[in-house]
Amino acid sequence: MNPRRISYWKIAIFLCVLPALFYSTPQFSDTALVKLDKRPGDNFPKGIVRGIKGLEELRQFWIAEMDVEALSTLTRKGIPCHVLDRNPYGKKYFIVSTPEPGQAKLLEKYGGAVPLDDQNCLFWSGADEAREILPAEFEIERLSFENHISLKLESGILQARFSAGGQFPRAPFVNPLLPVLAGQVAKANLSSNILSLQSFQTRYASTENCEAAGTFLYNFFAHLGLHCEYEPFTFATTRTSRNIVATLLGKTHPLRVIIICAHYDSTSNQPTTLAPGADDNASGTAAVMEIARVLANTSFDYTIKFICFSAEEWGLYGSKYYAQAAKGRHEMIIGVVNLDMIAYADLMPEDLNVFVNQTSEWLANRNIIMGKLYGPLDILKALNSSMRSSDHAPFWDQGYSAMLGIEDYGLKNPYYHKTADTFDTLNMDFATSVTKIALTVVADLAQPITWR
Ligand SMILES: [Zn+2]
Repeated sequence: MNPRRISYWKIAIFLCVLPALFYSTPQFSDTALVKLDKRPGDNFPKGIVRGIKGLEELRQFWIAEMDVEALSTLTRKGIPCHVLDRNPYGKKYFIVSTPEPGQAKLLEKYGGAVPLDDQNCLFWSGADEAREILPAEFEIERLSFENHISLKLESGILQARFSAGGQFPRAPFVNPLLPVLAGQVAKANLSSNILSLQSFQTRYASTENCEAAGTFLYNFFAHLGLHCEYEPFTFATTRTSRNIVATLLGKTHPLRVIIICAHYDSTSNQPTTLAPGADDNASGTAAVMEIARVLANTSFDYTIKFICFSAEEWGLYGSKYYAQAAKGRHEMIIGVVNLDMIAYADLMPEDLNVFVNQTSEWLANRNIIMGKLYGPLDILKALNSSMRSSDHAPFWDQGYSAMLGIEDYGLKNPYYHKTADTFDTLNMDFATSVTKIALTVVADLAQPITWR
């Protein structure tokens, strides 16, 4: 080919590509990431609601995505709507929990940061993973764009349109088997579960040790005779880890599912070498293991899934993966009991904080009932959808009912996300009470079959 012909070709290709570039650009540049007030006021144009894609719910706001025309309509009408960023596609955003004074300011040292409310900031730093650049003290959640929550305006409040969990469960039922089952929870087992998990040195997701801990959990559930699966997933672009999912199939309604879960990965100020994570979150994982041991030989109406999530500390990656897939296959999850940090007590008798959103409030109420009947364990109900820093939140985003059971919050544990988060700092009487109550909540929802 002679050189002159090549340059004609180049010009021809350029002329073909130019309009394509021109026309394709607008679809990537005409959306905005916004913080939208849940009570948008009387001026809110109802017709616009279908064009708004809810991404995450906070206490007073939605983090949402909308096209710029919708945005300018809202702005014209004076609707409170704060633009967080334009053209959000392809960028990595994280919701960082910043409940302590000064934390939001500190965040600005590491990248872009905008306060969302008194509990959370939006954070970004190019293509970086927040976990790799932020100090260990921050709890983080990856903001995902794959999930779109359809919204509706009802009684002046923008709320999620769906409820994915199927029928609302029956009223709590005083089943004579519940106290018997709760009585089988053994403090010694909980302790040895925590010590086993701590012995992996670190369970920082994507390390070999974390994977070994995953295998240990799989084998534990398999030995109980439960059906076990590894659920592998990719996170932080190229890293991988596994959720461990163990299933006790319901005898009457096997398609209806109750989930008891905890994350087994850990972090610290030296995450790749030493992150014992005894309280965070060997304690919750130990409870899931012990509840599985006690319930494995009982028949229930509903299916119970015992799940240990990974990569929670990197941004709730494991639970996001599970919850999205569950919604995709129309899994009928009635309720999710998530335990994260349940073994540090600064003052006995200690109470358990239970965080729920509006849809899940009934779950907190069940905890209160069970705490009275089978405790005593005082439950502090917190209706607060801004509390997103654990594995219950991805279930909220899919319309499922989910709760977080956690020790005192703001956290009193001085060893949190440190190499000193070890077994000897824990209060196992408190952890045992929490495990008993979580067991009764799960068993009550799943309904043991007593006539067999
Ligand atoms: Zn945790």
